[in-house]
Amino acid sequence: MVLDSKVDLLGMDRKSMEAYFTEIGEKPFRASQVMKWIHQHGVSDFDEMTNLSKALREHLKAVAQVRTPKIVAEQFSDDGTIKWLLEVDNHNSVEAVYIPEKNRGTLCISSQVGCALECTFCSTGQQGFNRNLESWEIIAQMWVANKALGCKPKEERRITNVVFMGMGEPLLNVAHVFPTARILMDDYAYGLSKRRVTISTSGIVPAIDKIKEELDVSLAISLHAPNNALRDVLVPINIKYPLEELMPSLHRFVEGGHSKKHVTVEYVMLDKVNDHVEHAHELVKLLGDLPCKINLIPFNPFPNTDYIRSSNNAIHRFKDIVSAAGLNCTIRKTRGEDIDAACGQLAGKVNDRTKRTQHRVQFDLAKQL
Ligand code: SAH
Ligand code: SF4
Repeated sequence: MVLDSKVDLLGMDRKSMEAYFTEIGEKPFRASQVMKWIHQHGVSDFDEMTNLSKALREHLKAVAQVRTPKIVAEQFSDDGTIKWLLEVDNHNSVEAVYIPEKNRGTLCISSQVGCALECTFCSTGQQGFNRNLESWEIIAQMWVANKALGCKPKEERRITNVVFMGMGEPLLNVAHVFPTARILMDDYAYGLSKRRVTISTSGIVPAIDKIKEELDVSLAISLHAPNNALRDVLVPINIKYPLEELMPSLHRFVEGGHSKKHVTVEYVMLDKVNDHVEHAHELVKLLGDLPCKINLIPFNPFPNTDYIRSSNNAIHRFKDIVSAAGLNCTIRKTRGEDIDAACGQLAGKVNDRTKRTQHRVQFDLAKQL
């Protein structure tokens, strides 16, 4: 087997790229030139990077590459949402989703092939886990989407926000997610502000502290339950990092930030599971004075799930209680459902190495007996 030993430039943040150019005997400013070509102009061919000398272009061709994944499928929803299925290796594909709105365009990206955390209401979680995505495979989702939508100057960009809310748990892959977030916010790449790059987590407490130390981005927490007993079932990582550890980490995250710094709290609405009046009151008490915005997400169904979406009445009743307590609470509009692109519906193609899919099939068979 011939191993591809070329260095991948797509996933390098500025610091790494500057170090790379220094290492090959070039000036560090080459990094910003190359990043601009790759990320702002969507160029992957060194021959097109015309402000580099011919000699440097030839050298880069021999030792480096801008590798991008193959687009396996592109689906368009009636509401303007677009979903891409990207092949990251021979056995695995991940999904990225573009959601256009009136004043912004959000790209939802994946950080892992599948997810190991088994949240019971999540399609990705039910599929099993294969591996972490590398930085180039994560930023490639932005690169591909940006190119598909037509690379535009910064002021006219169609992708104004990026959320790590696709497949996988980003905070279990910080080695590759953090550099990706830096590229998203780099002025020589996509130049998004920290308010427009959001990492969503099921609650990996040590990594929440790591964000605070190393990266200035927005944070969303997938809470989904106001007490440990219920959260242990819905988001099993809660057994390892229970609410008494998670909540202080959220307070630490906002501490010392600017006056508007807050956490987005995500709460999936599951019929008769976590949508009772008592849950709403309990949630208000749990959140206390945490600067936050609460986002209620109507459950999106997928094959083989026993959960049902809460009724509109239950969702509005819940929202009214939380809002009446003075908290900022909104209901997330479901987008791209006709192409299975809504929150929690992303499946991609995961060659499950945890053998969970197998367990699940056995479980389903057992249920039918
Ligand atoms: N692993 C991270 C990010 C990916 S999931 C996390 O859990 O936060 C992105 C969001 O979609 C999370 O808030 C998740 O709880 C939510 N979600 C998962 N499955 C869902 C479903 N079936 N319906 C609605 N939201 C869902
Ligand atoms: Fe993983 Fe997030 Fe899905 Fe939970 S909700 S299984 S953490 S992707």
